[in-house]
Amino acid sequence: MTPKKISPATVALHADGAFRTDHAVSPPICQSVTYLADDAHDFAHKAVEPHNSEFYGRHGNPTATRLARVIADLEGAESGMILSSGMGAMTTTILSIVSQGDHIVAQDSHYSATTNFLQKFMTRYGVDTTYVDQTRPQAFAEAIRPNTKLILIETPVNPLTALTDLHAVSRIARAADVLTICDNTFASPINQRPIDFGIDLVVHSATKYIGGHHDLLAGAVVGSREHLERIWGTTMDLGPVGAPFDAWLALRGLRTLKARIDLHNANAGKIAKFLKEHSSVGEVYYPGLTSHPQHDLARRQMTGFGGMLTFDLTGGYDVGLRFVANLRLCLNAASLGGVETLVVQPAVMFRARLTDMQIKAQGVTPGMIRMSVGIEDSDDLIADLDQALRQS
Ligand SMILES: *Cc1c(COP(=O)(O)O)cnc(C)c1O
Repeated sequence: MTPKKISPATVALHADGAFRTDHAVSPPICQSVTYLADDAHDFAHKAVEPHNSEFYGRHGNPTATRLARVIADLEGAESGMILSSGMGAMTTTILSIVSQGDHIVAQDSHYSATTNFLQKFMTRYGVDTTYVDQTRPQAFAEAIRPNTKLILIETPVNPLTALTDLHAVSRIARAADVLTICDNTFASPINQRPIDFGIDLVVHSATKYIGGHHDLLAGAVVGSREHLERIWGTTMDLGPVGAPFDAWLALRGLRTLKARIDLHNANAGKIAKFLKEHSSVGEVYYPGLTSHPQHDLARRQMTGFGGMLTFDLTGGYDVGLRFVANLRLCLNAASLGGVETLVVQPAVMFRARLTDMQIKAQGVTPGMIRMSVGIEDSDDLIADLDQALRQS
């Protein structure tokens, strides 16, 4: 493992130095799905050794293993593993921990597919979840039952960039002998390291900031070696392993993570201030604003406030539609965390599958806009927002 004193910018470039056995400075992609054994003894050993990346593709591959090492070091974790997507990582990790009859405590708001998995999938297999107000740490303690095995958190979370107190929740979980998983996708390990606050396992959609270029689908989970061996065992049965090509792209993207996150943080901070002062904009939700109800907590557990922000157009749904259509630089597309700025009007996405009541319960208003601020020049982004606001 990389010593703690090396800074994240350097870790992102050198944590996998030991893998440079072939003199190539830049990692090669290893597309082979199967590997020669030295002898029968070696074959038998590799067949059962956790995370062995040179046996058969479902057991792992050298490119993904290399990527996992870098993400684990960035998060301050002992071990890590790459899966086919963020949801592949989230579901495989949860399935490695709970059994029929167990109970989960999760947040009122999560990434929508995570909520769907708990509500529609886990309940079919006899695992119930209690959903709590994440802004109140005590709510997690109150929801714990004798059969609770897992507390699942995600901070910051859509749509209102609400935060969860990592230290408070991990203390509650440890006292009750319950495991914790934190989805750290929005913050990235540059802005927040949940393991430093006592969280057991950290999950990422590497599709987002880790890859950073809107060109790959991958997930990661990091934590102790013991937990990761269990998750590896589940992956062996379920099969959502990370593919070499996507891992290679993610490794390439990851090299510049620190530089990119610094730009995302700075741009989002400037844009949040601009929007806050604009007459057509109501509430602006960004953990870096002093007006954010959990700004003090953000300062305690984050070293930067990220590139995700949400704001409310006071004109409502139709103004929102026109605003998004009038943008020239900011692109109307799903996903987040890449170099290009993306915007979505959540009410448009949600109207396809939720009732107006359900949308409101999530805190979404008709004129709400979610923005994943990219690394374009901040003045150019602000000029684009300004012209779209004036024309809408
Ligand atoms: C995108 C995302 C996921 C799911 O990741 P995929 O790579 O799309 O499967 C999970 N959590 C958060 C916070 C996300 O943004």
